[in-house]
Amino acid sequence: MRPIASSLPSPGRVALPLSTAGWTLLALALIMVTRRPGDAPPILPAPVASLPDNIGNPVRPMPARFPPGSHLPRMPEKLVSGPIRLESFSPQYDLIRLEDSRIWWESDHDSNDVEDDHIIHRSLREPLERLAELVARRGGRLKVQDAYRPVGVHSSGSLHKEGRAVDLTCDGISLEELARLCWAAGFDWVYYETPRRGGAHVHCSVRR
Ligand SMILES: [Zn+2]
Repeated sequence: MRPIASSLPSPGRVALPLSTAGWTLLALALIMVTRRPGDAPPILPAPVASLPDNIGNPVRPMPARFPPGSHLPRMPEKLVSGPIRLESFSPQYDLIRLEDSRIWWESDHDSNDVEDDHIIHRSLREPLERLAELVARRGGRLKVQDAYRPVGVHSSGSLHKEGRAVDLTCDGISLEELARLCWAAGFDWVYYETPRRGGAHVHCSVRR
């Protein structure tokens, strides 16, 4: 009986000698082939360890007051966070899916809607995680009511269409204190929004 080793092909004759890069290209090609033309590209989960160590520290002093209907800074959102530019916006590269157990996510409790409130622009992640920590330290719980919304409910120029805006409420602290914390957490534009139809919340947005 021949030794097993001698029946194996020698290194010089191994079939399909693919490198790591080769396997990656093959996997990508398979994804392209198996995805249907109308499918949205995948939204990648947030990277695990790219946040600064001091994520729980405010980046600005809290304003003394944040009255309903006011925003900071006192300039239009488009001038501060910048308008949407859907022609250069790429959901696949600009958006991430964030999991954070300190946060209550509305879409996790709403089966009548197809939205996923975990999906945000990557620039929104740092202030949002900082805010979750600041709220938790005060004994509250941050609630994300709306985040990335490619269609519906928001105005045509809404930053929700790029995932750069988030609508927040909370349990355990007032909306005014939440708005003050949002500003301290580093969002570029913070608006304590009080619509006539009800549903007061804090809308925050960030630059691209
Ligand atoms: Zn909003």
